[in-house]
Amino acid sequence: MSQARLQTTIAGSLPKPAWLAPPNQLWAPWRLEGEALAEGKRDATLLALRDQEAAGIDIVTDGEQTRRHFVTTFIEALEGVDFQQRRTVRIRNRYDAEVPIVVGPVARRNPVFLEDARFLRAQTRRPIKFTLPGPMTMVDTLYDGYYKSRERLAMEFAAILNAEARELERSGVDVIQFDEPAFNVYMDEVREWGMRALTRSREGLACRTAVHICYGYGIKANVEWKKTLGAQWRQYESTFPLLAQSQIDQVSLECANSRVPLELLAALKGKDVLVGAIDVASDRVETPEQVAQTIRAALKYVSPERLFPCTNCGMVPLSREVARGKLRALASGAAIVRGELA
Ligand SMILES: [Zn+2]
Repeated sequence: MSQARLQTTIAGSLPKPAWLAPPNQLWAPWRLEGEALAEGKRDATLLALRDQEAAGIDIVTDGEQTRRHFVTTFIEALEGVDFQQRRTVRIRNRYDAEVPIVVGPVARRNPVFLEDARFLRAQTRRPIKFTLPGPMTMVDTLYDGYYKSRERLAMEFAAILNAEARELERSGVDVIQFDEPAFNVYMDEVREWGMRALTRSREGLACRTAVHICYGYGIKANVEWKKTLGAQWRQYESTFPLLAQSQIDQVSLECANSRVPLELLAALKGKDVLVGAIDVASDRVETPEQVAQTIRAALKYVSPERLFPCTNCGMVPLSREVARGKLRALASGAAIVRGELA
């Protein structure tokens, strides 16, 4: 995979068809039940896959069509978390949410996404990527009434994620990505235990492993938060050197329309860099030339074999039409720059 230049991929999620869940909404409820829901999820996964293939995306995902939410759906499958009880906590220091409570030892009795991965693997010959929430981000979406330690809970989740990731790998997944937006908020904790938890999550895996660190979807709380970050967003500055020394192979980050100084990418020497060249906080579809400009700017700091044009974050809150346009823009923009390199 690393010989080819500027292979395209996406952060993970794509919008769902309106018959499966109401569009333009996070945590959207399912519109089907029982066997019809299971079949609907598979059908939606096929459509998400075909949209990526038709656009020319190289490393494809299931578009997270089987999940209501990138963190919660995984946690719902675990023991030790009570979703009936709720407590209000502040998520990523940004907004209050009613969250489930950790009431006992957390455990995974059965695989969570294994069947989804097998299904996707059987449907395409392209390399596939599967996303999982990162341990720190999981901790940050719960009230911990049992361990009373963010670090201990994170290490428990890391062991669970590792067991899940090993099964996904055996099913033929090429890349396993851990989504850790919390890494852009709790930079001290990343150093103290977040990196250790992430490393534990990928222990023993032979497939490529990625971490996705972003500034979030285009929801109001995130847009307001970004306004407070100043002219230069330097959150990556403290975590990239730690990631450069880690066993993580790939780092997925936000570049399009962001105030991240691109020279920070130089700290990721030796890693694959998934450069966000598509803004998911805007309905405006980028032109291929705009995508190409973002890629060219990142190429000053990342070699073409290591650079993977990508989206800034998941596209689940967008309309399908906009998301399809952005997939095509991503592939076309990468093709322009590939032509220039040839
Ligand atoms: Zn993201």
